[in-house]
Amino acid sequence: MSIAENFKSIKSDIVGLTAKSGRQASDIDLIAVSKRQPQEKLQEALETGHRIFGENRVQEAQKHWSALKPNYPDLELHLIGPLQTNKIKDALALFDAIHTVDREKLARKLGHELENQGKSIPCFIQVNTGEEPQKSGITPKDLPDFLKFCRVEAKLDIIGLMCIPPIDDPPAVHFAFLQKLAREHNLKQLSMGMSSDYQKAIPLGATHIRVGTALFGERAD
Ligand SMILES: *Cc1c(COP(=O)(O)O)cnc(C)c1O
Repeated sequence: MSIAENFKSIKSDIVGLTAKSGRQASDIDLIAVSKRQPQEKLQEALETGHRIFGENRVQEAQKHWSALKPNYPDLELHLIGPLQTNKIKDALALFDAIHTVDREKLARKLGHELENQGKSIPCFIQVNTGEEPQKSGITPKDLPDFLKFCRVEAKLDIIGLMCIPPIDDPPAVHFAFLQKLAREHNLKQLSMGMSSDYQKAIPLGATHIRVGTALFGERAD
């Protein structure tokens, strides 16, 4: 299938799944994850009219988008991968939302830089719902204090939570858990669901699904 057809098919899933759970299709942002995809495919997606994209590395995002962004004023770029503190300035120059706030040092430096620039950007806290040692994200037990830190000390605009479920677990368990955590803290946005599991994430309240291969095909490695 072409990229345009893939977009159509995922969007029609979104319409069907939101209708079933009494929500609106417009409640869901489809983030087209363009990491490690060739430039032609990004262009093809832009030609379908799609404007919301996700990248997981600042440097690659610059290569992909720096030259294109001025031509697409309504383009929205989401950082969905880990952010090193020495890349904060570069990230803020390009991205419109950050899904991966996951530690105090990052929150503090991000807050400082935003204050210096006199701007604000919507942020998600990444939660390590499976408590996997190799995975980034705050543990569920540290979330209440970390959220407070982000809001009070770092003055970040935290709009929601993000997770990447462990590969070997049923993802719905983690999506339900993230939804519960978000409710407890009165956070409205949930960044969860990828190509293989967005259909499970939407009924559990996802507001941002991050879809790569189902739109663009396999990535280069
Ligand atoms: C790569 C990536 C995705 C997209 O994964 P697909 O399985 O290709 O849809 C989503 N979220 C994050 C954080 C990623 O790094």
